[in-house]
Amino acid sequence: MRYISTRGGVAPIPFSQAVMMGLATDGGLLLPERIPTVSTATLKRWADLAFVPLASEIIALFVAEEDIPRKDLDRLVREAFRTFAHPEITPVVKVGRHHILELFHGPTLAFKDVALQFLGNLFEYLLQRDGGRLNILGATSGDTGSAAIHGVRGKAGMEIFIIHPHGRVSTIQECQMTTVLDANVHNIAIQGTFDDGQAIVKRLFNDLDFKNKYSLGAVNSINWARIVAQVVYYFYAWGRLFQGEWGGDWGRTVEFSVPTGNFGDVFAGYVAKRMGLPMGRLLLATNRNDILTRFFATGSYRIGEVFPTFSPSMDIQVSSNFERYLYYLLQENSDAVREKMAALDTEGGFEVPGRFLDGMDEFRAVAVGEEETLATIRTVYRDSGYILDPHTAVGVAAAMTTPGMVCLATAHPAKFGDAVKQAIGHLPQRPAVFEGLEQRPRRCQILPANVDPVRDFIVRKLG
Ligand SMILES: *Cc1c(COP(=O)(O)O)cnc(C)c1O
Repeated sequence: MRYISTRGGVAPIPFSQAVMMGLATDGGLLLPERIPTVSTATLKRWADLAFVPLASEIIALFVAEEDIPRKDLDRLVREAFRTFAHPEITPVVKVGRHHILELFHGPTLAFKDVALQFLGNLFEYLLQRDGGRLNILGATSGDTGSAAIHGVRGKAGMEIFIIHPHGRVSTIQECQMTTVLDANVHNIAIQGTFDDGQAIVKRLFNDLDFKNKYSLGAVNSINWARIVAQVVYYFYAWGRLFQGEWGGDWGRTVEFSVPTGNFGDVFAGYVAKRMGLPMGRLLLATNRNDILTRFFATGSYRIGEVFPTFSPSMDIQVSSNFERYLYYLLQENSDAVREKMAALDTEGGFEVPGRFLDGMDEFRAVAVGEEETLATIRTVYRDSGYILDPHTAVGVAAAMTTPGMVCLATAHPAKFGDAVKQAIGHLPQRPAVFEGLEQRPRRCQILPANVDPVRDFIVRKLG
């Protein structure tokens, strides 16, 4: 299995190289040359598997044996999910008329752990095998940074620098990052906003001498390894229904509702469908930052303003993984993708030609407002006693009129306690991993929101 770029400028490379490359060198995103398909017999066998062996089977389809031997891959997968607090890793629970696929049992209680626990192990393995070092740099508004830190902590060959806006992330989020005391973890709190942090990161990545000299890399959601890890739970959830409620009825299809921001999670669902998972249309749920909803309604992809919401991890205008889907929608035409992405840069948007619009039927997109999000948390709690986090609530709200759907639960409600409290009048119960979090020792460097002090700090740490 080899990987190519959506923009056509990368000669086919193996999985391991795609993982280390992250963003394709031509500015595009990496994709497998072809998406593997699975037979009915294989699917039925997969329905019996526990999460970890299933993950091994699925991920192995995307990795050539001569690139990473299967026994090594199996070990990486096993170790990645050992940090999860639930024996099923991603259990499916029945809540009212829906199923909730709980993706938040990893160390930071958000679904990003599923991919980043795997990616951290994979980086360490590849660095040890091929030599070299990797210094990860990123800015976070809360969630991604903590999941990345927990994916990389204590791993050989890697340092991680995560910038967050001082005093502007929730206490829980701050503690999840700054209480990680491993020597390779460096938290930087800048005296500015999240946008300032992103601007600093961008400037450091654009300084190619600096980037190369210090082997800087990113862990944002464009890494293919993250997508492939997320494909697994779509198959796993289907297996639970097929074996359970459906009594092995092969004629039924599963439907997913996916709270969406950067299009990574829902794109993994799309890959699962292309692999042959019996799945209906994917329901793509956004908050009021609705560029994707507008796109699926009109075929016009146009950047708007970003509004802060109760579901901050979905407060996104440009979805970084969307280009992967665009590539398939435009029938794998790299020239057309390049042209559209250039228009996004220069004109703030583009239109997909009418003849391609039928292809978008695979998705149904719904935008959910703030009041509706809180009302959904309230209603579900009243009717079933189950507490949704606000991101999950967006997906559940979008699925309200379609019983039987599997709604992806992307964060534990305790992570977004303030919104939950507004909805139901009290905070959700804290899970064990949060006990005493605020009392633990922390380490964090506070710096002015300028590129120079951040650069100096990194240089000093890397020697
Ligand atoms: C990142 C995130 C999302 C959005 O996922 P994408 O892959 O970016 O679409 C949804 N919910 C939570 C809690 C997240 O952290």
